[in-house]
Parts: sequence; structure tokens; C-alpha cells
Amino acid sequence: MKVLITGGAGFIGSHLAEACLQRGDDVYIIDDLSTGSRDNVRPFEKDERYRGRFFVHIDSILNHNALLELTGICDVVFHLAAAVGVRYILENPLESIKVNIQGTEKVLELCAKFKKKVLIASTSEVYGKHMHAPLVETDNIIYGPSSKFRWSYAASKLMDEFTALAYHRIKGLAVIITRLFNTVGPRQTGAYGMVIPRFVEQALAGRPLTVYGDGRQTRTFTYVKDVVDALMGLVDCPQAVGEVFNVGGTEETTIVDLARRIIELTGSSSPIELIPYEKAFGKDFEDMQRRVPSIEKIKALIGFEPASDLDEILQKVIATMRRGAS
Ligand code: UDP
Repeated sequence: MKVLITGGAGFIGSHLAEACLQRGDDVYIIDDLSTGSRDNVRPFEKDERYRGRFFVHIDSILNHNALLELTGICDVVFHLAAAVGVRYILENPLESIKVNIQGTEKVLELCAKFKKKVLIASTSEVYGKHMHAPLVETDNIIYGPSSKFRWSYAASKLMDEFTALAYHRIKGLAVIITRLFNTVGPRQTGAYGMVIPRFVEQALAGRPLTVYGDGRQTRTFTYVKDVVDALMGLVDCPQAVGEVFNVGGTEETTIVDLARRIIELTGSSSPIELIPYEKAFGKDFEDMQRRVPSIEKIKALIGFEPASDLDEILQKVIATMRRGAS
């Protein structure tokens, strides 16, 4: 099979590219390197096993001609290219909205033109500021006001979901929507705000772990390999078409407990420093206080079950960051 991965030089995209190459696919990626990195895919470019099967295009998904050619060639599209990371979104609000909304519209338009199945990577952010758990795909959504820019990410990804479902309904396009919950693993950088690489880096350097707010907000984390398995499993499953799926772990942790665990697992003597949200992000910021997925739907359809628990995830991230290969 020939697969196109938009955002293929990003953190999740590069792991997906590797898994597709390993199972024998021809893999085409398109990435503008805004948050992705050529280093993430360089090893596959040099790998003899993948010679003549791996094609890297450094370009924006907003470039019609590049995307037209690649969509025409491939059998299936994994659309992962997006502005990601709370810090990145807050610092680049206009660019983020453009890439997320116009980029996805372009991908969907071309997939519809060539009748190619497409998986859209959405996010748990779309649920907004719920306090209940677990979050089910049919739950209502709750956002803050438009003055709080964090919600522009949620709103733009929700618009992507609506657009994809409309293409499915009106044009019969085979779309699958996945809401990813805090994915973690090697090659993820803390530069755009992601908490685990930031805490591990701080702990290994003996610097304070910067916990925002009171640290009682919670998250569930998923190992990137589990996420990749889920995405590939859904694309291979005809009954997934036209549906929305949560993809995530099940172990809920507060952020302050996460910091304590990372200090313990690294053997660090770093202290924990509580930093008010306003100081970290400015006054127009709101956090999500709780985020736990129901994974019943994806479990029932493809038997998805995360293989790595939080300690295993942390140990793997710590081991790669110790080797200096984050
Ligand atoms: N966080 C933190 N310190 C950091 C980075 C993040 O306390 O240095 C918190 C952040 O406020 C949020 C959680 O960790 O409550 C997860 O943040 P991340 O940006 O990784 O993902 P999010 O779930 O917010 O998209």
C-alpha cells in the first residue's frame, strides 16, 4: 500500500511513518518542518531496507500542487499536519488557525477528488473544559470565550471534524476521525510546552520542575506506539469509516504527582516549583482541569488497549532523553 502522512516529520507522524515502512508500505510524507524535524526521519531515509520506498517532501499542506500530486499517488492519507502544543498555539494564533482549518479543508477536498480514504488526527482538546470522566465521543463540548486563545485550537480542530463528517455525508468520502489524548514518547520535544519531555529534561538537569497552577489538573498519557497501532488498525477497519474515536490511555494522574514520579524515577534532587498560569502563559489563558478518555468504542471495534502504563512510558522517555536522543 502507498500511504501519505501529512506532518510525517513530526513526533507522531515519524513514528507512524516508521511503522508503515516496517510493514512494507511505500511511505510519502509532507511536512513544512514548523514543529517537525528532518532529524526525526533521517534514519529511515538512510535505511537500506526502505530504499526506494520512502519519500520526503518538505512543503506546506497549503501548497495545492504538492498535495495534489501526493494525494493522487497514494491509496490512503493519514492527516496529522497541524499546529500543535499549547505554547505554540498561543504564540502563533493566526498561523495555527490557518493551517488547521485551511490545511484540513485542502486535504479533504483532494481526498474527495481522488476518492482516497483519509484519517484525520483530531484532539482531546475538542472536549473543552469538562470536569467529568471519562469523556465519551458523543459528549457535549464546553469552551471559554474567544478572548482566551487556547480555545482557538479546540475550535479549529472541531471545525476540522465537522468538515470531515460533512465530506463523508455529502460526498461519500471515507473519513475516520481520531481524538488523540496526550501522546508521549521519543522524539517529542518540550519546546512547544509538552509536559513530560519538559519535566524529564528539568529533572535530568537538576532544575526545578515547573508545575503550572496548583498541579491538581489531571491528564492521561498514551505511548506513541500504542497510538500508531490504533491509527493503523482503524484505517484497516471498514466499519471505522464515518466515525469519531478517542485514542488514549486510562491511567489518570495529577500533574504534581507526575512531577513527583519523574523526580523519583530519574533519581533527581530537583525541587517542584508551582508557577501561576498567568506567569506561564499571560492572563488570557485557561487550562483543562481534567482529561480522561473512554476508550470503549475503539476497544469494541478493533480491540485497542494501551500496552504501556505511565511508569513504562516515563521509563522509556527518561532512557531516550538520558541518551540525548529525545
Ligand atoms: N504543564 C505544567 N508544566 C509544564 C508544562 C505543562 O504544569 O512545564 C501542565 C499544563 O498546564 C497542563 C498539563 O501539564 O495542565 C499538560 O500540558 P501539555 O502542554 O503537555 O498538554 P495539554 O494537555 O495542555 O495539551
